[in-house]
Amino acid sequence: MNKQTDMFDIININNKNPDISIPEGVKLKAKELWCPYCSKPVIFKKDKDLGVRKCPYCKVSERDYNVKQVNKRWL
Ligand SMILES: [Zn+2]
Repeated sequence: MNKQTDMFDIININNKNPDISIPEGVKLKAKELWCPYCSKPVIFKKDKDLGVRKCPYCKVSERDYNVKQVNKRWL
């Protein structure tokens, strides 16, 4: 095992059951959202073609129901 690997470095997690809440103890930094599919904090990147922000890892849109749900963002 590589001790330098922490859970947030693991890419390509794609939860079949997305998180419904941010795990206790997790503090998001400015601009970060919790990705319920990657189970980690991510900064959603703007997709210039679609005009929405997306998780850079799993490409889920910020408009996804579960993304809104977990971040309590109902825009
Ligand atoms: Zn993601």
